[in-house]
Amino acid sequence: MSDKTLFQKIMDREIPASIVYEDAECVAFNDITPQAPVHILIVPRKPIPRVGDAVAEDQGQLGALLLAAGKIAEQLGVKERSKGFRLVINQGVDAGETVPHLHVHLLAGRALAWPPG
Ligand code: AMP
Repeated sequence: MSDKTLFQKIMDREIPASIVYEDAECVAFNDITPQAPVHILIVPRKPIPRVGDAVAEDQGQLGALLLAAGKIAEQLGVKERSKGFRLVINQGVDAGETVPHLHVHLLAGRALAWPPG
């Protein structure tokens, strides 16, 4: 039986997904249940379960997620100030975490309410 996370299987093309970006540190693909016109998940190749489990040696991976977010936002035409995007990381039950492989949600394409629900 495979010990890979769902998102590792997507990265390894064992499960289909619409991949929009990848580099040495991370892969990004469309969320299967989009909550906005643009809803991308940016996932480190290293299967860090959640942000609170990251350690000092993960600093490069963590930084790569944010750098990728900026590139993807530009690629999708939502980077300019007149549009914009939101990044979300859910950890634990109260936040609604469902997949135990760290991921950043990039949401855009509509006005996003604040505070979030
Ligand atoms: P979270 O609730 O923050 O753990 O986010 C997990 C996200 O993964 C949810 O928004 C799901 O819709 C998304 N998701 C689950 N399975 C897949 C899949 N096979 N392909 C793309 N996104 C998925």
